[in-house]
Amino acid sequence: MARVTIDRDACIGCGACWALVPEFFEQNPDDGKSQVVEKYRIGGDPAVGEAPNNLLDDVKSAADGCPVGVIKVE
Ligand code: SF4
Repeated sequence: MARVTIDRDACIGCGACWALVPEFFEQNPDDGKSQVVEKYRIGGDPAVGEAPNNLLDDVKSAADGCPVGVIKVE
């Protein structure tokens, strides 16, 4: 497992992350930016989540592919 954070302020809502890993990322309906799906949030924070091992490679790929580099995987 790994902790994942999204700098939602800097997200441009391009959709790449939730297109690649819809099991983990989704579009916030209010601001159009990326957030962690409720199931994987830590403390209910839409910007912080815990990626399970079976999604980790895809989540890392999404982080690498984010055009503004706002997804961090630790
Ligand atoms: S790939 Fe990056 S910029 Fe695009 S929606 Fe996801 S977090 Fe936002």
